[in-house]
Amino acid sequence: MKKITVAIDGFSSNGKSTMAKDLAKEIGYIYIDSGAMYRAVTLYCLENGLFDGDRLDEETLKKQIEKINISFKLNPDTGIPETYLNGKNVEKDIRTMEVSNKVSRVSTVGFVRKEMVRQQQQMGKAKGIVMDGRDIGTVVFPDAEMKVFVTARDDVRAQRRLDELRSKGDSNTTFGEVLQNIRQRDYTDQNRKESPLVKADDALLLDNSDLTREQQMQWLLDKFNHITKQ
Ligand code: C5P
Repeated sequence: MKKITVAIDGFSSNGKSTMAKDLAKEIGYIYIDSGAMYRAVTLYCLENGLFDGDRLDEETLKKQIEKINISFKLNPDTGIPETYLNGKNVEKDIRTMEVSNKVSRVSTVGFVRKEMVRQQQQMGKAKGIVMDGRDIGTVVFPDAEMKVFVTARDDVRAQRRLDELRSKGDSNTTFGEVLQNIRQRDYTDQNRKESPLVKADDALLLDNSDLTREQQMQWLLDKFNHITKQ
């Protein structure tokens, strides 16, 4: 069967990554989490003193952007790809609230987006890929054969994100803090000048507020089978 490109975009913490991972596994495609790449750049900025409070030293970042190497390697135990920053596994470090609070700022920077998009297009050259993010169906792969735009109510998304943080041992962050972070990121993602979050005209809309993981998977597989059979 011919391989296609699957682009999954949408708001923060709506389960896109889980969904994209599940789908990729089911159909035997490679999964790439583009948000992890922006998170890795953000971690690099934090570790290298490029943030002074909320101020980002873009000039220094620009000089160093080509030195930031992001890759993914499959964890043989989980079968899920993990993120590496300059050879170091940063999968856990990029999921902290500190990184979440700064990542939207980093992803507004034009030269950062340009470099990430270049790397993403390289990764998707051979098709057979499921990539999730904010601009995958609009900018990275505008010709993707299957595009999905995912949404869910923000209180549902905050609860999911809180459950994830709790499961990773964070017992301090509150529901209110998570909800505020999500609303802030929605706003920044939709209103930035460079590649704002917007549904591609030809994307399928999926509101998963009241869907189980299984129902969502069935929905995706139906669409995928329909598209690949054409
Ligand atoms: O998907 P995730 O929530 O991990 O993404 C983190 C942040 O990275 C988003 O809030 C957004 O600012 C940025 N991002 C982006 N473009 C993408 C993927 C993520 O700007 N393709």
